[in-house]
Amino acid sequence: MTLPFPINPALQNVPVYQPGRPIEDVARELGLPAAGIIKLASNENPFGPSPLALTAMQQALSGVHLYPDGNAFYLKQKLAAKLGVEPGNLILGNGSNEIIEFVGHALLGPGADVVVSQYCFAVYPIVTRMFGANLITVPAKSYGHDLRGMLNAITPQTRILFVANPNNPTGTLAERNALVELVNEVPPHVLLVLDEAYIEFLGNDAVDLVPLLRFGHHRNLLLMRTFSKIYGLAGLRVGYGIADAELVAAFEKIRQPFNLNLLAQTAALAALDDEAHVRKTREHNRAGLEFFTQAFRELKLELVPSHANFLLVRVGDGAKVFAGLQKLGVITRPMAGYQLPEWIRISIGTRAENERCLAALKMVLDFPAGKN
Ligand SMILES: *Cc1c(COP(=O)(O)O)cnc(C)c1O
Repeated sequence: MTLPFPINPALQNVPVYQPGRPIEDVARELGLPAAGIIKLASNENPFGPSPLALTAMQQALSGVHLYPDGNAFYLKQKLAAKLGVEPGNLILGNGSNEIIEFVGHALLGPGADVVVSQYCFAVYPIVTRMFGANLITVPAKSYGHDLRGMLNAITPQTRILFVANPNNPTGTLAERNALVELVNEVPPHVLLVLDEAYIEFLGNDAVDLVPLLRFGHHRNLLLMRTFSKIYGLAGLRVGYGIADAELVAAFEKIRQPFNLNLLAQTAALAALDDEAHVRKTREHNRAGLEFFTQAFRELKLELVPSHANFLLVRVGDGAKVFAGLQKLGVITRPMAGYQLPEWIRISIGTRAENERCLAALKMVLDFPAGKN
């Protein structure tokens, strides 16, 4: 069936994002109670939202008949103070995914080039194609970004270079020197978008690039962060970008006036105060990474050393192992869509969830479907 009117031809080449499967979906399919299923598929916080955020939202509930502050004044003030930038350096998004789309609106069109790495976050190619731009994919190096190769791939038509650091789905981290070199050498006609969705998991090891944005230098640098991962607010959709005030002003023209709802603003504001929740999550995550790393080594399964809250592990037939785990009530992420068909990605869960996932994985690898 074709529609009786033309649609934007760029949409023909836009791949569809495949999210981690929701627990309720899998429960319905398997006829199992949702309570018996665990989700280690979308890098969410296993401890849930910050308790401070929950309390703040409960208090804000009776105000949802009013539109939220379209400019999210308090959230911007607080973030700006924490980061040491001006509120005018901050753009807030309905998740950082929305900011990726702002970037597309502001910079891309037919004829523009976008440079990404092999195994990059799936949303970069989607947004590139949505705006009819051309994707240049640079081969990965040991599953990580070849930053030098990416610089070399820049053309006169290149508008954006996307780097997630740590990267999703591989968990790799750029070396400090290579990162500094990238920031210094990216030519002025290219916007370097550094996606730092997992930066809080690095703790003191993180390279802080925010100071570069304080004095109007590095006008072609956009840092992106999110409340979806360590802050545990993925369901509320809050992300932010830190950039030159003039670039932010351009994004503000694209942004829908109420893109951050009232509860999202309230929760994010409160979560920023909950350093204990962040610290606990980070420490627990380190232990979880260690747990899986050791277990996979014992099982002689190849893994990519991860700096984030998930691990990529080579299991053979990724789709089959994903399906086998799912039957046992453990949702992970198959990786064929990332050209990694032999791998699955496992998010770090609670200790009990990690143990259950490992036991299920051993079972699936010992008794692949068809044999039992
Ligand atoms: C999870 C993730 C995000 C965050 O997306 P939100 O829209 O903020 O939930 C952004 N970039 C990468 C690489 C991610 O893995």
